[in-house]
Amino acid sequence: MFGLSLAKILLTALVIAGVWVAARKLSRLADRADRPDVPRRRPGAPRETAPDVEDMVRCGVCGDYVAAGAARACGRPDCPYPG
Ligand SMILES: [Zn+2]
Repeated sequence: MFGLSLAKILLTALVIAGVWVAARKLSRLADRADRPDVPRRRPGAPRETAPDVEDMVRCGVCGDYVAAGAARACGRPDCPYPG
C-alpha cells in the first residue's frame, strides 16, 4: 500500500536501534568528560567493592551521630569519645 516491505521495516528498526545505542554511548562519554575527578576503570578491571560509606554511632551523652571510625569528642567532659 505505502510501499512498505518487511525488509524496509526491519532496516528502519535496525537504524533506530543503532542510533539509540550510539546515543547511549555518547551520553556515557559526555558524563565522564563532565567529571574528570572520577577515576576511569580499565576494561576488565574488577570493580571496587568497598563503598565510601561509614556507619554512624550515637553519642550516649549528647545524642549526636558521629562516624564510628573517626569519632571525636563533642566537647562535654563526659563524652565517651577521644577529643
Ligand atoms: Zn558527645
